[in-house]
Amino acid sequence: MELSDRQEKIIVIVKENGPITGEQIADTLSLSRATLRPDLAILTMAGFLEARPRVGYFYTGKTGSELLTEKIKKYKIKAFQSVPVVVKEHSSVYDAISTMFLGDVGTLFVVDDNSCLTGVLSRKDLLRASMGQKDLDAVPVHIIMTRMPNITICEPEDLLIDGAKKLIDKQIDGLPVVKETKQGLQVVGRITKTTITKVFVELIMDEI
Ligand code: ADP
Repeated sequence: MELSDRQEKIIVIVKENGPITGEQIADTLSLSRATLRPDLAILTMAGFLEARPRVGYFYTGKTGSELLTEKIKKYKIKAFQSVPVVVKEHSSVYDAISTMFLGDVGTLFVVDDNSCLTGVLSRKDLLRASMGQKDLDAVPVHIIMTRMPNITICEPEDLLIDGAKKLIDKQIDGLPVVKETKQGLQVVGRITKTTITKVFVELIMDEI
């Protein structure tokens, strides 16, 4: 995050004089306590300073990149997952291709009649199935999909960084976000390389 000149000054004062009260920081800068309050709140929330009741402010000694790393490591899948696009096992390859275009996604999840995960279809799976095949309506997707138990999944409470590692380790574009139920794994979301790219950009732009 970008700090203002005043916030930088506050950090220096606390670094040199901490523990120090808000009142004392305000006196040093010849400002009112009320004027400083938002800056102190930002610096505390961002982790540069620590506030101890009845003692004052301490400098935590953490650098901007250490704080950024701490922040990213806390992100959970559920805060970033997007809506999954699914097809039924008996859908045809033709229907799956249409759904992929309409849903504007690169990975489809295949579900059974209980809406539980049974497979995954990537762009190349569908391309491969289409090559030399005249009647795409006649081929059901369950014949060509990658099927359970070989599907890499994640859960809403998992860390986003672990999801990102799975995408890299398995060399795949997307992960289904699932919740376990009595019938099986319900698909509740998706995490893709685009999700991770968006997080990267928003972090740099200071939007999250
Ligand atoms: P593409 O095949 O279009 O390059 P991927 O790299 O995502 O896209 O997929 C590569 C292969 O891995 C495909 O056969 C696909 O079915 C399979 N696959 C994709 N996602 C998963 C997943 N989450 N778990 C297991 N296999 C997957």
